[in-house]
Formats: sequence, C-alpha cells, structure tokens
Amino acid sequence: MQIKLLKDIVSSVVGAGTSKIVDLLYGKKNVNEFLIAKNLNLTINQTRNVLYKLADEGLVSFVRKKDRKKGGWYTYFWTLNSGKSLHRFKEKLVRDIGALKSQLTLRKAGRLFYCPNCKIEHNEESSLLNGYSCPECGEVLQLKDNAEDIASLEKQTNKHNSLLAEVNTEIGEIDAQEERVKGRRLRAEAKKKEKERAARKKERERLARKEAREKARKKAARKAKKKNKKKR
Ligand SMILES: [Zn+2]
Repeated sequence: MQIKLLKDIVSSVVGAGTSKIVDLLYGKKNVNEFLIAKNLNLTINQTRNVLYKLADEGLVSFVRKKDRKKGGWYTYFWTLNSGKSLHRFKEKLVRDIGALKSQLTLRKAGRLFYCPNCKIEHNEESSLLNGYSCPECGEVLQLKDNAEDIASLEKQTNKHNSLLAEVNTEIGEIDAQEERVKGRRLRAEAKKKEKERAARKKERERLARKEAREKARKKAARKAKKKNKKKR
C-alpha cells in the first residue's frame, strides 16, 4: 500500500500531527512503543492513546510483553495492518460521510439556536416551544450562523469523499491482486490434477497390456497342453 494513503488514513483518525507514526511502522513488525513515543515526542500514555484509536479502526495491532526490568509492566509492540484492514476503514469512512450529510441537511433545513452558556444547540421548533430561552439555564438563545458550519461541513465531506475514492482504488487493486494469486493457484492445481490423471491412465494401460500378455501366455500354454495330449 502507498505510504501517502496510509498517512492520509492515519491523519483522518488521529490528526495530521501524528501521521509520522506511519514512517515508524511501515514495513516493520512489532515496533517497541518506547521507540514510537520518543520519535513522536509524546509520553507513553499519549502514544498509546493514539495507537489505541488506530487499533479501534483495525489499522494497527499489538502484542504485549511483561517487562521484568520495568517492574512487571507491559510493553506494547505495534504493527501496521496491511490490505484487509482497509475494508473496515472504508466502512468507517462511509459512516462518517453519512453523519456529515445528516448534519448538513439539518443545518440547511432551518435556523438553529444555541445557548452561549451550555453550548447546546436547539432547532427552531424546540426554541419556539421554550420561548427562545435555554431549557437548562434560562439564558436567551442566540441564532447560530449556519453558513460557517455549512462551509466547514462541506469541506470535511469533500475531504472524506476524496479519501474514500483513494481507499476504493486501493481496495480494487488489492482485490485484483488476490484474484491473480487465486487464479495462479487454481491453474497450478488443475495442472497437477491433469498430470495425476495422465499418470493413472498410463498405469491402467500398462496393467491392461500386462493382463493381455498374461492371457496370451496362458492361451498358448493351454494349446501346447492339448497338443501334447493328442500326441500321447
Ligand atoms: Zn443554557
């Protein structure tokens, strides 16, 4: 898989600042988390939080080993997952795009109000019902500027869509390669079976010839016996 796509994927899950993690894990197996933390300039807990988020999406996996020197604490070793994990990530992308879409629909459909204290949004209907004051704290609700939200949501949607297109292309390539490997294996199996069939046929023919020779020999022996009887 392309390192750029991996970075885009990792950025979309944990933010662009930590996409460097791909450089540290790419093409390697079981990378020590202390090494990752040091390179990312993060604490072990921060590093684990980033990696757990990626693990939740199936993008990395880990093994852990008890470290006697560190008082019996576990040290985690991380591996970047390849091809198959993309299918799962694609599902997440599709879900996220759906959520963005419904947010957009909501904001395009009508005015939204919000409470400056509680930071909670209310739609037109519930705002009217509450006399345009916050049902939690009583503060007067303010009209939200939807235009800014809509622009931001549209930007996010576009970003997600182009990442989805890249992921789809990559999945297509992975699947095509799997098909090619499968095709090669099936052809090799067919060839092997054909060879075995030919060997069995050869063996049958050999046995048939042997049997025929045996029959001919017995017949000749019987004939010779008869001849001998007549002579006597
Ligand atoms: Zn409030």
